[in-house]
Amino acid sequence: MSDVYDVIVIGSGPAGYPAAIRAGQNKLKVACIDEWKNFDGSFAFGGTCLNAGCIPSKALLESSELYLRAKEEFATHGIKLGDIQLDLATMQKRRASVVKTMTTGITALFKANGVVGIQGHGKLLPGNKVLVTAADGSEKTLEARNVILASGSTPIRLKSVPHDGKYIIDSWNALELDAVPGRLGVIGAGVIGLELGSVWRRLGSAVTVLEAMDSFLPMADQTIAKEAQRHFKKQGLDIKLGAKVLSAKVSGAAVDVVYSDAQGEHTLQVDKLVVAVGRRPFTDGLLAEGTGVEVDQRGFIQVDEHCRTAVPNVWAVGDVVRGPMLAHKGKEEGCMVADLIAGKYGEVNYKVIPSVIYTAPEIAWVGLTEEQVKASGREYKVGTFPFAASGRARAMEAGAGMAKIISAKDDDEVLGVHVIGPMAGELIGEATLAMEYSASTEDIQRTMHAHPTLSEAIHEAALSVDKKAIDAINR
Ligand code: FAD
Ligand code: NAD
Repeated sequence: MSDVYDVIVIGSGPAGYPAAIRAGQNKLKVACIDEWKNFDGSFAFGGTCLNAGCIPSKALLESSELYLRAKEEFATHGIKLGDIQLDLATMQKRRASVVKTMTTGITALFKANGVVGIQGHGKLLPGNKVLVTAADGSEKTLEARNVILASGSTPIRLKSVPHDGKYIIDSWNALELDAVPGRLGVIGAGVIGLELGSVWRRLGSAVTVLEAMDSFLPMADQTIAKEAQRHFKKQGLDIKLGAKVLSAKVSGAAVDVVYSDAQGEHTLQVDKLVVAVGRRPFTDGLLAEGTGVEVDQRGFIQVDEHCRTAVPNVWAVGDVVRGPMLAHKGKEEGCMVADLIAGKYGEVNYKVIPSVIYTAPEIAWVGLTEEQVKASGREYKVGTFPFAASGRARAMEAGAGMAKIISAKDDDEVLGVHVIGPMAGELIGEATLAMEYSASTEDIQRTMHAHPTLSEAIHEAALSVDKKAIDAINR
């Protein structure tokens, strides 16, 4: 068999592996190369998302939430349990097994779609060739008509907070802890800080989150962000805003952190310190001299709206290119590129990308925030519905939060949907579909929603936009 492929994908994360599968579905000869190495040295497809991100974090978020509910909520339902104990080893074993099932699933999907999966490091050479270096150091050059770069991202490190993987750790280390830290510090109140801070708080850690910005979740609608901040505070997550970390030093089995805020300089001692201040595109060793692929000042591979690089037939998708670092955004880009290569239609609607923060209550949104709509100058209407008025949410003992819809005054177009509450991440699917179809608020109002479901909150929020909510007082 010749080594000339129609498509070679470098990276098998949620941007790369769907690109390879779609290329296979399009009857293209395709290989997908990855070099991932787990802490135990084992190889797996799936990238950050499956091995060290989305999936393990959601496994632990689920387990830790069940633990907390068993402790604090089950009695409300009339369920009496004995002494509830945490078995962290089993919880972590389950997390690892969920990950393993998903990553081995990719091998099966590759096989079913005719994708050649290759373990090794891929380097783009000039002329659309790819040098593959195997774990044993052996090298092989493959040729491809098209190359898709999907090398992902890696955590940003802070010079003043030197990572050691044991006490000063990143999100991946924080997912694999084998004991609950008594005191956990987190730098960054972003998505990772809030999700992992929640996991370990539920399991018993005293969690302090140090956030450099003065505002909380600035990318979210501020009504929702304020509501979230109130809940997290009540839960005991100590989030310090405007906190600039000056230094962190391991001393014995603890970390001494020095930070400053409007009140002056402070010290904080924790048992583990997670640095979660964002991620940077990962292109180390990816591009040989003279490929012509352009990388911007922040390290992102430069692409157009169809993920084409400056080099013909070299494409880049996922976290390594501009846009939100989200698995589903990478997946859509990967599939788009594989379709374009096959001569089919492909497009990503960057205006309609859902975001979800898997805390409790969960936070999800799609489209514009009220602040963004206001700044655009377009006149708008707002409808909200509290989960406290939802029969299903009450039955679930999950009445905290609300759904909010922002729609245009002129043509009733849905401009943004924001949810904080139970299953917000699932509920946002309906809103995403509505916005993808350019729905009006009236379209949602006239759509029948099953009763009693959480989705009625979206329906009622849409009704509330025109002061027609039935199950809550219109304001
Ligand atoms: P990656 O998943 O980073 O995959 C890149 C792959 O390329 C890796 O396997 C790497 O080994 C390989 N690679 C790189 N260079 C080479 C090379 N030269 N040769 C061979 N292989 C190479 N996003 C969500 O949408 N939802 C979530 O709930 C969510 N939770 C997250 C939780 C955490 C803790 C973290 C860290 C991230 C989370 N994310 C989440 C973000 C999500 O993981 C990323 O957006 C996503 O993984 C990006 O996909 P990707 O394919 O671009 O890159
Ligand atoms: P983030 O950008 O969400 O948050 C980083 C936070 O750290 C920001 O609030 C920032 O102001 C703060 N920060 C930056 N430098 C700081 C400093 N020196 N001191 C204190 N605070 C500082 O990044 P993240 O939480 O690391 O997540 C990385 C990426 O992974 C994100 O792009 C996110 O989209 C993705 N992710 C997504 C999910 C999800 O979709 N549920 C979950 C986890 C991660």
